[in-house]
Amino acid sequence: MEDFKDNPYFELFCKQQENQFYIGNRDYKARIAVLDALHKAIAVTYREAIQLALQKDLGKPVLETELTEIYAIIGDIKHAKTYLHRWMRKQKVATPIALLGSRSHICYEPKGVCLIISPWNFPFNLTFGPLISAIAAGNTVVIKPSEMTPHASALMAKIIESIFPEDEVAVVQGEVEASTALLALPFHHIFFTGSPQVGKIVMKAAAKHLSSVTLELGGKSPTIVDKSANLSRAAKKIMWAKFLNCGQICVSPDYVLVDASVKSEFIAACKTWLQHFYDNQPKASSSYGRIVTEKHFDRLQTYLDNAKRLGATFETGGETDRASKYMAPTLISDLKPEALLLEEEIFGPILPIVSYERLDMALAYINAKPRPLALYIYSENKTTTRKIIQNTRAGGTCINNSVLHYANHNLPFGGVNHSGIGKSHGFYGFQAFSNARSVMTQYSFGMTEFLFPPYTGIKERLAR
Ligand code: NAD
Repeated sequence: MEDFKDNPYFELFCKQQENQFYIGNRDYKARIAVLDALHKAIAVTYREAIQLALQKDLGKPVLETELTEIYAIIGDIKHAKTYLHRWMRKQKVATPIALLGSRSHICYEPKGVCLIISPWNFPFNLTFGPLISAIAAGNTVVIKPSEMTPHASALMAKIIESIFPEDEVAVVQGEVEASTALLALPFHHIFFTGSPQVGKIVMKAAAKHLSSVTLELGGKSPTIVDKSANLSRAAKKIMWAKFLNCGQICVSPDYVLVDASVKSEFIAACKTWLQHFYDNQPKASSSYGRIVTEKHFDRLQTYLDNAKRLGATFETGGETDRASKYMAPTLISDLKPEALLLEEEIFGPILPIVSYERLDMALAYINAKPRPLALYIYSENKTTTRKIIQNTRAGGTCINNSVLHYANHNLPFGGVNHSGIGKSHGFYGFQAFSNARSVMTQYSFGMTEFLFPPYTGIKERLAR
């Protein structure tokens, strides 16, 4: 084995490595007992502490924390508990006639020692979500949460320490150096959620040990508003999805492509809903969050300044306050194609609106960019919807809604190419943390007897 003695996390890695078969051989009841302990910690013991940590880190409204963090994690645990027995069972498969005399099955065995690196935008959900899958699949886990949300990360470490010994699950807090040191170790699987740029770094590090990876990345998720759409309903759902968590969501609608004939009506409907959601004063509204750090605030401010310089129309918003990291919900149209807002993933409360004359132009626009994590379609016309799905590629799609496909445990969640590799949630998460081991048992004389040398006289042997 390579010499890792100077790596600060090698000892931890070795402890988990030694413990992996004990953890991996636990039956499903023991795995469920662990999930129950996590459930109790999230739903009862630390519920208020989680709300408080997220208020401090992200100004997150309590209801949003309940819905998008606590409820989401509890939902993941309940789903895993319901189906774990089935997922862990041997999956019998047919055996071809040529292999007569044998039986075959697949068993999902744990990958072993896994690393979860998570982002800051939904710190608990995006750390404990994969953790639930990893535990269900019988792995030991090292977690590296984001340094951008220090209160959430410290609380996660406390929660994990209260439930697990470090040779089973451990949290490493730290910045890029900590991530880099962890990535140098030969984990059996790395589950990374974050930006495509860092995703490439993770994949390169994984390649050194041929560790398998799940990369949950981001990108520019388009929303198409067709002329047949119910514009008020579409505007309501898009405004909610875009400004939830202040637009800091991987599946947030990044930009809208709207049919030119309904553009004005659609923008008017968006403004009406924004006024209604935040009572005309988003800054004072308890339903509206803040940007995570000044660094991210400055990045978004650069996008706004660039749009202004290029003469874009600010339909609403544009007000900012660096001291409180406040950025108003902002709708911008008439952007030049080279505007940063149309080039970079926005990940903030700014929504560019681009109009198109013909649907083919919208599809060409989408297909000229890397494949997105999500693509949303607002249309009452089934032919149009089918045409959009058939002529684009995306990790997932919601029709006449946004973001909510994420919440269905029965759907695989993840991107495609630039927006991610591999899937998570429910069975797909369990699968990501498992090796599908093929097992074939020969139980009687079979056709394979004819395989053995000498290879002469095959016809005679068959005739015998
Ligand atoms: P990020 O890639 O900057 O950081 C994610 C994690 O990687 C953090 O824990 C960070 O400490 C670590 N990291 C950062 N730089 C690193 C480096 N050079 N080497 C090793 N590790 C490093 O992402 P972020 O800013 O935390 O989150 C925003 C991004 O995540 C957006 O692109 C968003 O779309 C994406 N995202 C994707 C999903 C999904 O499920 N697909 C969910 C949430 C966020």
